[in-house]
Amino acid sequence: MAVTIYYEEDVNPKIIQGKKIAIIGYGSQGHAHALNLMDSGCDVRVGLREGSKSAEKAREAGLKVVDMDTAAEEADLIMILTPDETQPKVYEEHIKDHLKAGDTLAFAHGFNIHYGYIKPSEDHPVFMVAPKGPGHIVRREYAAGRGVPVVVAVEQDPDGKTWPLCLAYAKALGALRAGAIKTTFTEETETDLFGEQDVLMGGINHLCDLGFDVLTEAGYQPEIAYFEVFHELKMLVDLANEGGLNKARWSCSDTAQYGDYTSTVITDETKKRMQYQLKRIQDGSFAKEFMDDQAAGAPKFKELQEKFSHPHLETVGPKLRAMFSWNNGPAKDQDEAESFNGKIARTQVQ
Ligand code: NAD
Ligand code: MG
Repeated sequence: MAVTIYYEEDVNPKIIQGKKIAIIGYGSQGHAHALNLMDSGCDVRVGLREGSKSAEKAREAGLKVVDMDTAAEEADLIMILTPDETQPKVYEEHIKDHLKAGDTLAFAHGFNIHYGYIKPSEDHPVFMVAPKGPGHIVRREYAAGRGVPVVVAVEQDPDGKTWPLCLAYAKALGALRAGAIKTTFTEETETDLFGEQDVLMGGINHLCDLGFDVLTEAGYQPEIAYFEVFHELKMLVDLANEGGLNKARWSCSDTAQYGDYTSTVITDETKKRMQYQLKRIQDGSFAKEFMDDQAAGAPKFKELQEKFSHPHLETVGPKLRAMFSWNNGPAKDQDEAESFNGKIARTQVQ
């Protein structure tokens, strides 16, 4: 199947200009969507919880802030950007009863629609605009006149106008300056979960910490182990991001390349484990386990956060990171630093 990519010229931006848009939540994605859309001339209101700490920030940025029910009541298009595990309750208690015929629901990740935790009636258009980057970069790139690419999908199209609206939203977000790849809610959800649990986080995070253990248990200095199994990862990722795996390989020594090609660390068993994980994503058992735990106050999630909160690498990490000037000074982007800290605190209270 040939990939479909949309750019700015594929869109009629007028389609969204008359719409009243609600952005629910003002976190990583929420602040970026609200500000970018406002700066693109859209009619935006931000819907927040009673007593939300973000309200003042959003108002200071020039946005209209109301409670979630009012936002849903006023809007024709509602983009839900609270954490995925909170969305079913947010939808049930603050959005559902305010939907008028033809109101559109939008998401930045397919999870709740794909697994059926949110089931809008068939007469509501449902689309997804999912940025392939954190919200703070989505905002920063827009402000710099560029954009972060997105994937776009339509799940329900009762009026035949959902695709043009979805693309107009993506354009207002600045994403079509970079491009939007067409996908489905199923493909986006399953591949996103697979990527984070088997490669980007569940793969790499454990691989690095395990490599650190093997070296330190063999008597090597932890500081040296940190450099060799963790610090250099960023430089290789930067090179690979610029020019693919071959650029990263090309920049390394022949010795390193030969070791890469002959390594026996990743085995057929690893592939089988990945396929097992993928199956649990596809049949919904991963989603069910996560959502059931969240609904019970997240006992398992909290236990796991505690269990993994002291990576062995971090016994020397802070000391070594302080050696790098670009890690040392005040945070370049104070908002980003604050939101990062807030994020960790957030997961502890859920
Ligand atoms: P976040 O945790 O940064 O922000 C959550 C926002 O929702 C905050 O304003 C918070 O105050 C509010 N909130 C938290 N709990 C709430 C509740 N119970 N009721 C009402 N409001 C609540 O979330 P995020 O990372 O921006 O994720 C939002 C959506 O975007 C998710 O669907 C996520 O999968 C998707 N997404 C995120 C990223 C990313 O890089 N963060 C990238 C692509 C897609
Ligand atoms: Mg992802």
